[in-house]
Amino acid sequence: MNERKSVFICTDLEGISGVDHIDMVMKTEEDGYRRACELLMQDTNAAVAGAFDGGADAVYVLDGHGGGKNFIPGMLDPRAVQVKMDDMPKLMKECGATMQIGLHAMSGTMNAFLDHTQSSVSVHDYYFNDMKIGELMQDGVYSGAFGVPCVTVSGDKAACAEAEHFFPGVYTACVKTAKERNIADCLPPEEGARLIYEAAKAGFMHRAEIKPYVLPTPYTVTIEFNRADYCDDVCRWRKDVERLDARTVRSRKTKTETYWDVLL
Ligand SMILES: [Zn+2]
Repeated sequence: MNERKSVFICTDLEGISGVDHIDMVMKTEEDGYRRACELLMQDTNAAVAGAFDGGADAVYVLDGHGGGKNFIPGMLDPRAVQVKMDDMPKLMKECGATMQIGLHAMSGTMNAFLDHTQSSVSVHDYYFNDMKIGELMQDGVYSGAFGVPCVTVSGDKAACAEAEHFFPGVYTACVKTAKERNIADCLPPEEGARLIYEAAKAGFMHRAEIKPYVLPTPYTVTIEFNRADYCDDVCRWRKDVERLDARTVRSRKTKTETYWDVLL
């Protein structure tokens, strides 16, 4: 039985309850984006409450969308502690579970709302070894290296299906379905938050039944970019990557310590 009782929650914006149009995740679209941030706080707090009610004794939260600064000051449940990427190696050693709230499916997923992996502009596909993966798995493989399972995921239907594929037994909260790539049909946000609370609570309670995703080292990370110049940019400053073709680079990973280790 896993006795580590802290939880790490990573948030994104695309899969947040009530976020139903691409404009809402763009920081330049003031009204829609502000509303999206309010909804982000509601979903995040629902997950925090569920984790505590499921038995967690500490909850750490990362504001993960677009480099952060989406959380509205003063609105995070005061029982939770907001953390930064650099805190993760230390945190993972005390966490018994991770949760991913507001996620989206990997690039190229059919019937998915705002599918992408890292950058919808530059990245075509992202791979661990020969396996095409998305951001859900980047987080899953990172926490898995510390023996920590991903127990709860919220997002659109495609993100939840992706989570269930990679993390059997994960508790999912499906809060929307894509109508088109940039438009979604959402549940009422309060209903979405209720599902997230339930999935977080159940996920933490049943964390011992969900296996961490352990990717054996060494492994390779491969990115196929959309154009050769994105590849040129990487190869200019990274001498440790191998260029496979005009648009594709690969790096070889021998350890997973910082979060950057699971990226290229
Ligand atoms: Zn995002």
